[in-house]
Amino acid sequence: MQPLLPLFLDLARRRVLLVGGGPVAAGKLAQLLAARADVRVIAPQVVEAIAASGVPIERRAFVPADLDDAWLVIAAATPEANREVAAAAEARRMFVNAVDDPANATAFLGGILPRDGVTLATSTSGAAPGLAGLLREAFDAVLPRDLEQWVTEATRLRADWRRDGVPMRARRPLLLDALNRLYETRVEGSRLKAQGSRPGQALSPKPLAISQSRGHVSLVGGGPGDPGLLTRRAVARLRAADLVLYDALLDPRVLKLARRAQRFFVGKRAGRHAITQPAINAVMIRAARRGKRVVRLKGGDPFVFGRGGEEALALRAAGVSFDVVPGVTSAVAAPALAGVPVTHRGLASAFLVLSSHDVEAFKAALSGVRTEGITLIVVMGLARRAELATILVHQGWVTSTPVALIAEASSPRQQIWRGTLGALASGAAKLESTGPALFVVGRVAAMALTHAGPSSVAR
Ligand code: SAH
Repeated sequence: MQPLLPLFLDLARRRVLLVGGGPVAAGKLAQLLAARADVRVIAPQVVEAIAASGVPIERRAFVPADLDDAWLVIAAATPEANREVAAAAEARRMFVNAVDDPANATAFLGGILPRDGVTLATSTSGAAPGLAGLLREAFDAVLPRDLEQWVTEATRLRADWRRDGVPMRARRPLLLDALNRLYETRVEGSRLKAQGSRPGQALSPKPLAISQSRGHVSLVGGGPGDPGLLTRRAVARLRAADLVLYDALLDPRVLKLARRAQRFFVGKRAGRHAITQPAINAVMIRAARRGKRVVRLKGGDPFVFGRGGEEALALRAAGVSFDVVPGVTSAVAAPALAGVPVTHRGLASAFLVLSSHDVEAFKAALSGVRTEGITLIVVMGLARRAELATILVHQGWVTSTPVALIAEASSPRQQIWRGTLGALASGAAKLESTGPALFVVGRVAAMALTHAGPSSVAR
């Protein structure tokens, strides 16, 4: 990737041309107006937000001469239009920012975080703007809340040091001391003290004493998806949260309950971890130390295949106050919603929940397990369902054992396939859904005690 030079532009009263009139252009317009740029919009049609903004608009296609009086051009139109703008800008040696279109861009706007006199910008050179946005949120979570005071103090000291000729290398430790003194001189109960962050936490390699204040982490079970299946405590924790760290597959309806929180996606996307487990732990710990109420939101129950235990250990080791809010696990709720009781007199007197994340561990967990009178619930095994069914057959499960495959339980897209272990092993189980799914193996899987909904497929 081409190395880039980060640059902060003073656009105040400078002409900036914005080509494009859709919602993307409207977003850029807001940013440009916040920088007090003198914006002109060129687009055949504009959305209401642009029309109502009061900036001059020319409702027509772009022509190269539009660039004549501009300092910067933003292309937020179709790829064809962006290409024209990029070519015209190149010919005039002007930088062009093409939104979500790196091929036509020579300037990239990062994920920008303006906070109390400090601006952080994150760039992926236009390759992954979504990631830049996530990183921006992560930085926001770890920045001190009283940053403004830090800036004021640092600005004041810098003037003194320049006047007194204090050498550069002496300034950093002096600054750190001065920032820490901000806390010592404050009276008990003052705003800063209540927020509990100390500059040393962010700047000093030496750990300082940490005031725990009201910071707290809740490991919350989000249930299978439908917010109606959340516990009351989960709802309360979400409503009170300042920061929510959530996984992939989390139902947006649940997330919405965290009205005032910053929401930060930390799950896997396209098979890759967006952020690592230690990084998630670090974000939770730092945010709690800064006095934030953090919710670590997981699907189902936080301690059922959700790495919640590891997070609890990390929080305990860090001395951060935390609690666990159990959730309705999909392992039991998905079968229930499909009308399958995981235990039933005469059919199953026990149930075993297995993850097929690791096939060897799956086999090991099954060894010595009887093949009658027990229900198996296999999570994270959708893609490998035929292979897993074959393993079960090899371990002595008869091919006529009923199977129910349940996808997106509790959502309007819930789907059920019913069949036998033999059919599952032969690859016969088909589902349209690409959402989370599990399967149930055992005699209870043939039961359908509730109306399963129009999308279910009967055997
Ligand atoms: N902690 C979660 C499980 C995490 S493992 C819980 O207690 O439910 C993730 C797996 O759970 C998915 O791969 C899928 O097998 C299952 N799952 C989660 N939500 C589901 C849903 N709404 N319907 C069906 N299966 C679901």
